[in-house]
Amino acid sequence: MTETERGAVPETVDVVIVGAGFAGLYLLKLMRDNGFDAVALEQGRGVGGTWYWNRYPGARCDVESMQYSHQYLPALEQEWDWSERYASQPEILAYANEIADRLELRRDICFERQVVQARFDESDHEWSVVCDTGERVRARFFIMATGCLSVPNKVEFEGQDSFGGPIYQTGNWPHQPVDFTGKKVAVIGTGSSAIQSIPQIARQAADLTIFQRTPNYAVPAQNRPLTTQERDEIKSNYGDLRHRQARSMANIAGRAPLGPAADASREDQWAEYQHRWDEGGILFNGAFTDVMLDKKANEVAADFVRAKIRETVNDPATAELLCPTNTLGAKRLCVDINYFETYNRPNVRLVDISRTGLAITQTGIKSGTNTYDVDAIVYATGFDAMTGAILRVDIQGREGRHMRDHWAEGPRTYLGLAINGFPNLFTVTGPASPSVFTNMIPTIEQHCEWITDCLCHLRDSGQREIEADKDAENDWMEHNREVGKAHLRSSSASWYTGENIAGKPIGLMPYIGGFPRYREKCDEIAADGYVGFRKA
Ligand code: NAP
Repeated sequence: MTETERGAVPETVDVVIVGAGFAGLYLLKLMRDNGFDAVALEQGRGVGGTWYWNRYPGARCDVESMQYSHQYLPALEQEWDWSERYASQPEILAYANEIADRLELRRDICFERQVVQARFDESDHEWSVVCDTGERVRARFFIMATGCLSVPNKVEFEGQDSFGGPIYQTGNWPHQPVDFTGKKVAVIGTGSSAIQSIPQIARQAADLTIFQRTPNYAVPAQNRPLTTQERDEIKSNYGDLRHRQARSMANIAGRAPLGPAADASREDQWAEYQHRWDEGGILFNGAFTDVMLDKKANEVAADFVRAKIRETVNDPATAELLCPTNTLGAKRLCVDINYFETYNRPNVRLVDISRTGLAITQTGIKSGTNTYDVDAIVYATGFDAMTGAILRVDIQGREGRHMRDHWAEGPRTYLGLAINGFPNLFTVTGPASPSVFTNMIPTIEQHCEWITDCLCHLRDSGQREIEADKDAENDWMEHNREVGKAHLRSSSASWYTGENIAGKPIGLMPYIGGFPRYREKCDEIAADGYVGFRKA
């Protein structure tokens, strides 16, 4: 990358944005449109955020492409032709690049800059932001647009340094194609990233061994090419689709729940699950209103998926190992393309490490008394979600208070947007906002627009500082706990609750009250003059 392409870090701007994923790109546009001088600091060499880093084979979005796309660029919405029902990583990355090019955003992005520190200076109400290169920039406003799943969980397995072959991490995949032809490959983990990559790697590798600690529920994507007619139908009334999205809990338009499962016989429930299985996609667990609230209703859905696994996987012992017993949907439901079918291939085997764990040797993997020789290992071990990217930066707010201390017992925010003690700092899709429980792209838009309106309001009213009140933050966190209490996700271990990372405080991090209710609350707060915020 040339110095011109990397960009020069300015000394002072109005707004520093961390990250040039979809949120960072939209914020840059909004800042420019509204007369704010802004810079985005991006650690990668290109735009696209999660889609820049997650280049593993099979990486693809589990929300339909016509919905997982922006609405703020009506011309692009009409001109862009998504080729498949679920877009692949290269296509989504090309889309992010198209946005950056069309809007000429690169001139305000500094690449290869990881933000390592940000300190709020109370004397002049400004943030001082430091990059890993030592470069510094001062700004009135500091916006973390760092994504929810951007810090890979780099598990340190015993003996890993002795391994003679390459080790890959799905969340930080090489930019050059990785060729597994003729190789013996190991995949560790069976979450979404593994479930997407395993069928692809199995087709290429001579031999694939999957090391599973916990089996996961997966439903078929039923992915297929989109026809011109399908795209045109949506494009002729895109606004309607966007409207239906925004009114749904997850910001995803689709088949509505039939009502409570308690009102339907087991046969009727299975019929609906079959219907959704054939249709494909993540709305499977939205078949009934209580699937994620009532253990009995959830168990019927889980039984259905287990029956499908047993029907699909030829070897009964492998099928049993693949059958999850935990709450369906507590960990994010995976959407797969030929995942379970892949276990019928002669070159694929599954190893249960739930009791034995694993260690890495010079030539492969050891679990219990068994050893497996492999040429390459893929860690599909997930992310330090929601808080990882925020806490990786040494953020110091009022009176030098560290974000790490403020969040020592778990993240606390007002609306997932602002934090008491940290004036003029905003988080896009931060903890306690709907974020990962929703379709991220339109949800990102709502946050970026809310933040921009807030900055314009401050400028128009001659104020330099805004900070979430302690009471407002407490009340919002209490509301989060209250709406989360009855939800099965609150009582199940997952990356949503922080339990995938040793030592991380435990608690459901995203807001589970749904997108419409959340947006209404944000709008009310803004309309009431940013109630719950202290301004100066
Ligand atoms: P994940 O769901 O957290 O899965 C990580 C896997 O690694 C789990 O099977 C986990 O086992 C295993 N693991 C972690 N530490 C381990 C250890 N020390 N020993 C053995 N196994 C270990 O991570 P992910 O698959 O990267 O997915 C994370 C999220 O990213 C998804 O839920 C989704 O939201 C997003 N994502 C989306 C897409 C998409 O849009 N289609 C694709 C990929 C990812 P345990 O379950 O036992 O902890």
